[in-house]
This record gives sequence, C-alpha cells and structure tokens, in this order.
Amino acid sequence: MTADVIVRCEQLTKTYGRGAGRVHAVREASLSLRAGEVVVLRGPSGSGKTTLLNLIGLLDTPDSGRVWIGDRDVTDADEEQLVELRRNDLGFVFQTFALLPVLSARENVDLPLRLAGVRRRERERRVIELLEAVGLAEHAEQRPPELSGGQQQRLGIARALAMRPRLLIADEPTGQLDSLNAEAMMGLIAGMVHERGIAAIVSTHDPRIAAYADRLVSIHDGIVTAE
Ligand code: ADP
Ligand code: MG
Repeated sequence: MTADVIVRCEQLTKTYGRGAGRVHAVREASLSLRAGEVVVLRGPSGSGKTTLLNLIGLLDTPDSGRVWIGDRDVTDADEEQLVELRRNDLGFVFQTFALLPVLSARENVDLPLRLAGVRRRERERRVIELLEAVGLAEHAEQRPPELSGGQQQRLGIARALAMRPRLLIADEPTGQLDSLNAEAMMGLIAGMVHERGIAAIVSTHDPRIAAYADRLVSIHDGIVTAE
C-alpha cells in the first residue's frame, strides 16, 4: 500500500433481509481513497451509495470484506475504538445538514471540539479559522434556521472539518441545494481537500457534481466500478 492511501476497503459486501426479500446493497466493493483527492461516487437512488459510505465511515459493519485507515486494519475494531476513529479520522457531511438549531454557527463548529476535550484557546482559533474558510465569519452568532440552505451546508462542512479528519465523507450533500449552491459547495470541498491534503468521498446522483471529482466511481446494484 502506498503511503498516501488514507482509507482502503477490500471486497466489502453488505446484504439486508433474508430469503426472497434479500437485498445485496453492496457487493465485493474495493476502493482506495488517497490524500488530496476528491472521489465522487455516482449512482441512482437505491444503488448502494449510502450503504457503502456507512461502511467506509465505520457507521455500519460489512458482512464480509475489510477496511483500513492508513495502515491500520479497523474491520474488527470494538465500539470504543470505532468511536475514536470516527471522531478523530473521519468527518461527516449530511444531506439534511444535521446542525443543532438552538446553537449558533460558532457553537455548532465548536461542539465536536468541546466533546473531544480540546482546550478553549485552541477551539476558538480553529472555529474562527473554519468559519472564515467557509465564508461564514460574519454569521458566527446566527443559528442555523436563520441561515440559507447553502450557508447551512457550508457550516456543516466547517463542523465536519473541526477535528481535522483525514477523510471527509459526504452523502448527497447537495441534495437540498439549488445548482448554484451545490456547485459552490463542491468547489469548497475540493478546495479544502486539495489545500489540507485530506481525502473526500462524495456521493451524488447529480451529474453536474461529477465535474469536481479528481476521480469518478460508479455504483449500480451494489457493484462498484471505476470510471
Ligand atoms: P442509495 O444511497 O444509493 O440510494 P442505499 O445504500 O440506501 O442506496 O440502498 C441500497 C439498497 O439497500 C436499496 O435497495 C435499499 O432499499 C436497501 N437498503 C438500504 N438500507 C436498508 C435497510 N436498513 N434495510 C433493508 N434494506 C435496506
Ligand atoms: Mg443514499
């Protein structure tokens, strides 16, 4: 394995249900994600995108296959180790933004840092830097319901990056956005990935999003193919 591979998965398989109702959500998927690269995972609704991202994001366990983060095989990690890995190595961006509506923009980005016990001065420094990077410094004290959809998703990216993850995982992050905001958001993700040398995997069924990919991967009926 080369040094700049951040996440590698090999022959991941996940099925749901049994008998006639059995669904092969992901079939023997193998994929490497490298530092500085945005991988766009394209596939129609129901093709297995969320299932695959949940396996890569250690939110779900495969029926078979293995996952490595860096050189570490994390397939059999216990729940405590998984919590650590998700918190320290992975950043998640959701279609529904998943922000806390009663907290300000600043507090939303600060929350994962507080939970991780990062010291106050360091937290303040990182939160300001991230809000500036996503163009929300002027909105730091506003709450998510007071922000536009595009601003909320940029806030979601800032929060996902707060713990300095090695991999950013975004499951249809542009699903709720108009095309202008969707493209701005992809530009932001690509900029962050290239600048910080992290990796990102972004799922979409929107062909316009593909333009921001360093590498395109398709999924159909759970089968992953490189493009
Ligand atoms: P996508 O994100 O591309 O829309 P999903 O990964 O959500 O696809 O789903 C892939 C397939 O697995 C679909 O046929 C879906 O109905 C099925 N599926 C997903 N999650 C579950 C679940 N928890 N239980 C049963 N079937 C599921
Ligand atoms: Mg999905």
